Amino acid sequence: MLRKILDLFDSGDSFTDPVCGMTVSLAKPHGGSHEYKGETYYFCGPGCRVAFSKDPDPYLSGEKKIEM
Ligand SMILES: [Zn+2]
Repeated sequence: MLRKILDLFDSGDSFTDPVCGMTVSLAKPHGGSHEYKGETYYFCGPGCRVAFSKDPDPYLSGEKKIEM
């Protein structure tokens, strides 16, 4: 398990979900992706993507965050 987590960090193909802070695999983002201001964001689940798409700015600034 620990090995798997380390591999994820090393591979460089992961992204931090801006809503909950979880690490998302770019190869298989469970929540899909959302484009905002020319940047693509990836999410751990559909709930995070919906929350972000409704109101992206507070999540990007760190003002708003969902605890998972
Ligand atoms: Zn999330």
